[in-house]
Amino acid sequence: MLRIKEKKQLSPLSDKVVHDRLLKGIRRTIRKSGISADEKIKIIVSLIVETGGVDVCSCYVARPGDVLELYATKGLDERATHETFLRVGEGLVGEIALKRKPQAFEDIWNHASFVYKPETGEKAFQSLAGVPIIQDNVLLGVLCVQTVERITYPPAFLELLSVIAMALSGIVAAIATGSVEKKMIGGQQHKKFEASKIIAGIALGRAYVHKRVALGKVLASSTSRETKRLESAIKTVETEINHLVSKPNMSDEQKGILETYLMFMRDKGWQNKMIKSIGEGLTAEAAVQRVCGEIAERMRLMTDTYIKERIHDFQDLSNRLMRHLRGEQIVSTGKLPKNTVLVAKSLGPAELLDYDITRIKAIVLEEGSQTMHVVIVARSFNIPVVAGIRNISEIVQNDDVLGVDADNGFLYVNPSDEVLDDFETKIKVQRRLQTRLAQLSELPAVTTDGVEISLNINAGLSSDLINAKASLFDGIGLYRTELPFMSSEQLPDIHEQTQIYRRVIQEMKDKPVVFRTLDIGSDKVLPYFENKGEKNPAMGWRSIRITLDRRAILRGQLRAFIRASAQRELSIMFPMIANVDEFRQAKQTLDFELAREKEKGNALPKAVKVGTMLEVPSLLFQLEELVKEVDFISIGTNDLAQFLFATDRSNPIIWTRYDTLSPAFLKMLRYVHEVCAKANVPCSICGEMASRPLECVALIGLGYKKLSMNPSALGMVKAVVRSMNQKQTESFLMRHLSDTVETLRPLLQSYAIDHDIFI
Ligand code: PEP
Ligand code: MG
Repeated sequence: MLRIKEKKQLSPLSDKVVHDRLLKGIRRTIRKSGISADEKIKIIVSLIVETGGVDVCSCYVARPGDVLELYATKGLDERATHETFLRVGEGLVGEIALKRKPQAFEDIWNHASFVYKPETGEKAFQSLAGVPIIQDNVLLGVLCVQTVERITYPPAFLELLSVIAMALSGIVAAIATGSVEKKMIGGQQHKKFEASKIIAGIALGRAYVHKRVALGKVLASSTSRETKRLESAIKTVETEINHLVSKPNMSDEQKGILETYLMFMRDKGWQNKMIKSIGEGLTAEAAVQRVCGEIAERMRLMTDTYIKERIHDFQDLSNRLMRHLRGEQIVSTGKLPKNTVLVAKSLGPAELLDYDITRIKAIVLEEGSQTMHVVIVARSFNIPVVAGIRNISEIVQNDDVLGVDADNGFLYVNPSDEVLDDFETKIKVQRRLQTRLAQLSELPAVTTDGVEISLNINAGLSSDLINAKASLFDGIGLYRTELPFMSSEQLPDIHEQTQIYRRVIQEMKDKPVVFRTLDIGSDKVLPYFENKGEKNPAMGWRSIRITLDRRAILRGQLRAFIRASAQRELSIMFPMIANVDEFRQAKQTLDFELAREKEKGNALPKAVKVGTMLEVPSLLFQLEELVKEVDFISIGTNDLAQFLFATDRSNPIIWTRYDTLSPAFLKMLRYVHEVCAKANVPCSICGEMASRPLECVALIGLGYKKLSMNPSALGMVKAVVRSMNQKQTESFLMRHLSDTVETLRPLLQSYAIDHDIFI
C-alpha cells in the first residue's frame, strides 16, 4: 500500500484569501438559476478541489436505512458515484456521520475504522477530513476532502468545511428527503399511527401543522450587515420574551421557563459564537442555525434525558431569531380552529405559548419526551401529548380531523364514525379522572393505613423549581448541579455558583433542598474540561472520581453551597461513591471548607447534613460501615441498575432487558432499607424508578418513605400513595422476593388492580 511519509502542515484552504474566494464561488453557484441541484453539488465539489489545494472532494447523501451514498466526487473515480454506499458508522465517512461532528484523520490507512472501497480509487490518498451535513437536526450527508500527502488539518480548515456543508444543506435536503417522502407518504395507507405516550389524555380536533422557519440564504457578503441584523433580532426576541413573561395570565411555572430562555438569550458565549460564524462568511440566519445546531448536537450525545431535552429549548430560541431575521409573522391566533390538535416536528415552550393555548386540545410531535419544556408547559394546561411518529408533520394536512389517544399511544387521522363515537365516550371518562386527581392536590400523601410518604422532586434548572405545584411536594430530593457547568464556556466561579444555589434555596422557601456535587464525566462532558477519550466513560473517570482528583473544583462548589446556605440548613450528597473511604475524603473536604469559612468570619449554615448516593454496587457491601458515617442515603436507581445488571443505561438494545421490578433488584432494595432503618439513617430513592406508579407501589411496599421524582409524576404518585395499604403490600412483596421469575411486574400489576391501587 502506498505510504508517503512527507507531512504537510497546512492546506491552502486555511488561507483567508483562498477561503473568501472559495465562498464567493460557492455563493454564486448556489444562486445560479437554470441548473439542477445535482449539477450544483458537482460544481461545488470541483471548486473545493480547484481552489483549496486538496486532491479529492466528495459529497455523500444520506439515504433511508442509515446508508450514505457517494453522490458526487472530484478526485475519486466518478464511476463510483451512486454505486458506493457506506452504512452510518462504517468507515471514516460513516464515523463522521455517526458522531455528527467534523473530524480529520491524518493517516487513514492506519486508522482502525478505515474501510477501503476499491471502486473509488482512493488507494493514493493518506489524509481525510470531513463534516456532517445537517439540517433541522437531521443528518443529510457528509462532505469530505482527501489528500495524497499526509496533512494535519487545522481547526480553521474544518470550520470552513462546516460553513460549506451548511451552504450545501439546502440543496442536499431536497435530494436526501425526496426519496424518504415518497416512501413514507406514498406508502402510507393507514390512518392509525402508533405513538409514544407523553402526557396521558384523549382529544379530538382539527390539525394545525406548526412549521419551522426555512433557512434561506447561507453565505453572506457583508459581515457587518449580518452582525447588525443578528444583534437587532436578539434584542427583538428578548423584548418579545419579556412581553410574554409579563402577560397577566402567565403562570409562575411558565414564567420560570421563559426566564431560563432569557438567561440563554443573554449568554455572551452563545452570542459571540454566532458573531464568529458570521465572521466566517455565514448569514445571520445560518450562524444562528449553526451554533444552535452545535449546542443541540453536543446535548444529543448525552444519555441524560434531562439535558438532552433542553435541545428543543435551543431550537425554539433559534426559530424565534430566525423568524425575526426572515421577517416572518407568527400565526394569528384567530386562524386556529377552536379544537386544534397542534402537529409539529418539534416545538419549544415559547413557540407553544405564542398560540392561543385555550384552543389547543392535544399536541402531536415527531420528537418529544417526558421532560421537554414544551411538555412541562403542556402538562400545566392538561393538554395530552403523543410523540415519536416519523414524518407526521409532513403526512398530516391542516384541517384533517385528528383523534389523539395519549392513554394508549395512538393517533387517528380522519377516523371513521365508529372511532369518533369511541373517542367521545373516552373523553367523558377522562373528565371524571381529572376531577378526581384535582381533588387530591391539597390532601396529604398518606397510605390507607396511615404511613406518611414524603414526595420530592428532582430538579436542575430554575424552571423545574416552579414546575411542580407547591402543595404536591415536600422539597428537592436531588438537585443536579451539572447544568450551569454545561452551558458555560468555562467552569463557573464560586460567586456565580453561590448565586445559582442561593436562588434555588430562596425559591424553595422553607422546603429542604439536597444538593448533589458535580456529576460530570460519562455522558455529561464539559467541552472545556479535560476529556480522556475513554472506551467506557460510564465506568470511567467521572463524578466524584473527577472532583476528588481535581479537588479545587469540589472545594469551590462546596464553598458555594456553604455561602448560599448561610443561616439555613444545608444538605449535600456525593454521587458515584464506591466505598466508605471515598465518602470520607469528600466529607473531609467539606469539613475543611466549613472550617475555612468559619475562620474567615463568614456566616455558616445552621446545620449541615451530609449523605451519599448509592449508585455503585460495591458500596452495598460496606453499607453497614457506611451508615455509621452518613446522615442520609439516596439511591440512584438509574446508575445502580445499570451497574448491577451490567446493562448500559444509554443503550436502547439492552436497557429494557432487565427490570427494576425483578426479585433480585427488589431484594437488594429491601436489604438497603433494612440496614438503614436499623441504623436510623434516612434512605430515599431519587432515580427514575420513583417517577413510575407501579414502581412506587413496590418501593413503598419495601418500606421507603421518601421518594424524589420527575415533577411530572407527583400527581399520579400521590394518587398511588393514597390508594395503597403499605403493610398489606409489604407482606405481599415479602412472599415473592425470592421468586425466580424474571420480573414481579405482572404479579404486582394484578395485585394493584385487585386492591384498587391507582396505577
Ligand atoms: C441515578 O443514577 O439514578 C441518578 C439519580 O443520577 P443521574 O440520573 O443524574 O445519573
Ligand atoms: Mg447517577
